[in-house]
Amino acid sequence: MKGISASPGISIGKVFLYSTQTLNFPSYSIEEDEVDGEITRFNNAIERVRRDLVELAEKTRKTAGKKDLEIIETHLMMIEDPDLKSQITQGIAEECRNAEHIVEHVISMMTKTLEDADDEYLKERVVDLIDIQSRILHHLMYIERTSLVDIKEEVILVAQNLLPSEVLTMNKKYIKGIVLDAGGKTSHTAILARSFEIPAVLGLSNVSKKVRNGNTIVVDGNQGTVILRPGRSVIDTYKLRLEEWIKHEKDLLGLHNLPAETKDGHKVMLMANIEIPEEVNSAVAHGASGIGLYRSEFLFLRPGEVASEEEQFDAYAYVLKHMKGKGPVTIRTIDVGGDKVIPGLKDFDEENPILGWRAVRFCLSRKDIFRIQLRAMLRASVYGSLKIMFPMISGGEELENVLQVLEEVKESCRQEKIPFDEEIQVGSMIEVPSAALISDIIAKKVDFLSIGTNDLIQYTIAVDRGNEKIAYLYQPFHPGVLRFLKMIIDNGHQFDIPVAMCGEMASDPIFTVLLLGLGLDEFSMSPAAILEVKKIIRSVTITEARELAETIMDMDTYTKIDEYVRKWLNERFDIFST
Ligand code: PEP
Ligand code: MG
Repeated sequence: MKGISASPGISIGKVFLYSTQTLNFPSYSIEEDEVDGEITRFNNAIERVRRDLVELAEKTRKTAGKKDLEIIETHLMMIEDPDLKSQITQGIAEECRNAEHIVEHVISMMTKTLEDADDEYLKERVVDLIDIQSRILHHLMYIERTSLVDIKEEVILVAQNLLPSEVLTMNKKYIKGIVLDAGGKTSHTAILARSFEIPAVLGLSNVSKKVRNGNTIVVDGNQGTVILRPGRSVIDTYKLRLEEWIKHEKDLLGLHNLPAETKDGHKVMLMANIEIPEEVNSAVAHGASGIGLYRSEFLFLRPGEVASEEEQFDAYAYVLKHMKGKGPVTIRTIDVGGDKVIPGLKDFDEENPILGWRAVRFCLSRKDIFRIQLRAMLRASVYGSLKIMFPMISGGEELENVLQVLEEVKESCRQEKIPFDEEIQVGSMIEVPSAALISDIIAKKVDFLSIGTNDLIQYTIAVDRGNEKIAYLYQPFHPGVLRFLKMIIDNGHQFDIPVAMCGEMASDPIFTVLLLGLGLDEFSMSPAAILEVKKIIRSVTITEARELAETIMDMDTYTKIDEYVRKWLNERFDIFST
């Protein structure tokens, strides 16, 4: 099956079919003399859930972080709550209905009460209750629960869709490939798969209906193909391709210490995009000259409370300390909303989340959360070279407002004698068409621009970046997109500030020469993509690149541009095909 190549690499393994569909549970009346038996059945299920959780806590204590353990401990407390138990046993006795029906009813009522609460902490417990409900129902019905955290052997994950928060919390050690019906190349699920270097093919429409647990499957993230139930010879072919791929990756590591400069000496910066603090090690290993985008919102996407100031400070300081002496660290302020919903925060239920309450829009209406984040960043700034970047800026007012909040937080730090880097640079992402059109106005007020092509393309062409049905329209080579890129880069340079790109376009070698030619100063991408891009940069001259860009800017369709660039590259490199 042919899908979207979302994360490179090749994997051969057994299918683990993950279903997020809701359970169909039975609902029926029982006789009075069956009540005791039903209550015993419920108590046994609770006991089995408790044992599962204790076992999971043991495992988590050894392998995962404090936060994951806290979540399991919260679930344990909930399952042992006498009030929950008595409401359910009373319900079974009074209504003479089966345990599944009463469990569903009682916990749904509790969930509703929490959803309506004013207290944020209580609201966030909703996901925990839903999880507990699912665990009890599965045990009552003797259905094995598929949980991504519990996976204990190497598998290829096949599902209809996966949330970024699920990718974040799954047991990545054992997930050797991801194959989904839904998704696009720049969906956050794809971005995370690349971060964790898990081969992934997305947008396959109905693959989850075509496989069963335990089937063998080949995932070729380089070509965007999967092969279901392959025969011996196909497996052998892919084993060979895997070896070639590993060799190719090893050869690239030879470029690790060489500068990112063209044959005629034009230098650019190759930076890393990271989603979790530990990824900074991969950035260093791939020779990144700094972090061009740290997506800080991933600290907030785990179920549980909003990340505390201390937790954020630790994460930011960790990244800064590990990059000290190697390059700057650009931390983007929280960009939740869209496909990155905070589990349990029901305010994200919107008709149109992509055009909705996202990023700085969220931060400016939740200044409590925003201020804590800025304070944690300022405190961490003494450990290295920090830059702060604001996402989804759509106009001058928004930019002024976020800069003002930053000034207020700086002032309160000064008053409290908290040291921070007074020279901290601030930048704006350009990922909304209105911001691209006024990028000259924005450039005057900040120290750098960073183009977020993932969103800029989605909003310019009006094509949802995660929707596989219209993925064919998502074309970085669209002349409209290219005109925006040229305009933003020229505007940045007119006001003497560097222009970076941290969208996925920066990581795809097919665009590298064009972006060089347009004058891009910094390319930021997932660490594993850096060396391939460096190889291209080191093999061309800036004059050739400028000529290519000029020729392309005069072309009228993305199809023509794509053909032309592929031919151009194909004549010079072996990795492109027409
Ligand atoms: C972008 O939009 O290009 C970007 C880098 O931000 P994100 O992918 O997190 O939306
Ligand atoms: Mg974006």
